[in-house]
Amino acid sequence: MKYETKVLTTKYQKPDAYGALAMPVYHSAAFEFPTAAAMSDAFCGRSMSPSYSRIANPTVMHLEERVRQATGALSVTALNTGMTAIAYTFTAVCGAGFNVVASRHLFGNSVSLLRDTLGQFGVETRFADFRNPAEVESLTDEKTVALFFEIITNPQLYVADIKALAEVAARKSVPLIADTTIIPFSRWHAQELGVDIEVVSSTKYISGGGTGLGGLIIDYGRYDWSKSPLPAIQKNVKRAGRRMAFTARIKTELITNLGGLMTPQAAYMETLGLDTLDIRYQRQAGSTLWLAKECEKLAGISRVNYPGLSSSPDHTLATRQFGSLAGAVFTIDLASKEACFDFIDRLQVIHRATNLFDRKSLAIHPASTIFGLFTPEQREEMSVPETTVRLSIGLEEPEDLLADIRQALR
Ligand SMILES: *Cc1c(COP(=O)(O)O)cnc(C)c1O
Repeated sequence: MKYETKVLTTKYQKPDAYGALAMPVYHSAAFEFPTAAAMSDAFCGRSMSPSYSRIANPTVMHLEERVRQATGALSVTALNTGMTAIAYTFTAVCGAGFNVVASRHLFGNSVSLLRDTLGQFGVETRFADFRNPAEVESLTDEKTVALFFEIITNPQLYVADIKALAEVAARKSVPLIADTTIIPFSRWHAQELGVDIEVVSSTKYISGGGTGLGGLIIDYGRYDWSKSPLPAIQKNVKRAGRRMAFTARIKTELITNLGGLMTPQAAYMETLGLDTLDIRYQRQAGSTLWLAKECEKLAGISRVNYPGLSSSPDHTLATRQFGSLAGAVFTIDLASKEACFDFIDRLQVIHRATNLFDRKSLAIHPASTIFGLFTPEQREEMSVPETTVRLSIGLEEPEDLLADIRQALR
């Protein structure tokens, strides 16, 4: 079955008492058991029955199961935000004295998480240019616990050669962890390209309405965790096996000790988002390609950057991995920071807001906002120039969006 059919036919864990077609929202902190033995089974991991919503909740389990079936993953964990999913992933695989080799071109909070937050706990991060697999390989050693990158960076829109990175990961026996937020899993197969763990901010395409936050950890069970040098992972290898060790650590130790499981209300909204994910993506990414082509013809724009354009140096790679559409975000470069601010201030249809893949189109000046607290040297190193405006394209009529861009450039 294809994506849409899979997500629309995923069965509930138990039949609903009233045959509800939409997943009921189980707003209950605790769940009752018929017997003391059944309660013991649930607490000791011998049954999958939820006991308490910090650890598992039926609405959240249904969202996880839908994503699991749609992606063919071993396990999926739904958390409160994309950052929670990323923080959990690092917490599961990292320890003091070990290092992560991460892309120099990451979402700002991921950089800060690695450098400032995990750095305090003795985790070293080595930032590399992931467009250069040889550089990644040279920084990877026996203390490296993960390679981490974004499949298309934001706002630079550099496309990673995932197969080449997977070869480095395999040679060095480290897991390949990808933030795949920018292209939904309905359109490509991370697993086939060699990704071991996928992290997704479901706030973006999956929620779709910009109505709530969420994050997913998708574990394909590809990596042999007996190769991890981390003692805490080895403990889980003994307990749960070499394929399950990562998931076991997330689903037992981290969920219980850290909290942060997705709320039932958010999981309900995200199951609605999954229903229409692919059709929304096709429309939004199709509009993005059309608009990017039209913007290339406009005076006042010095550069249009979108990997779906044949003028992009990453076009071939993007097409090979993700098909003809390369996401629903593109950037334009104007003469100066002032020109960018004037352009953004004059927009009437496109909203001045952060976020990506809302149903509404959004504009932002990354250098002064998302990267506003970085030094000019750090921004330079991350290739976030002051002349760039990022546009995330929604479901509006593309002609109206083009008219708005034209009038704002005047
Ligand atoms: C938004 C985003 C995140 C963080 O997700 P939240 O849901 O906002 O916590 C991480 N990575 C990428 C690529 C993002 O776009």
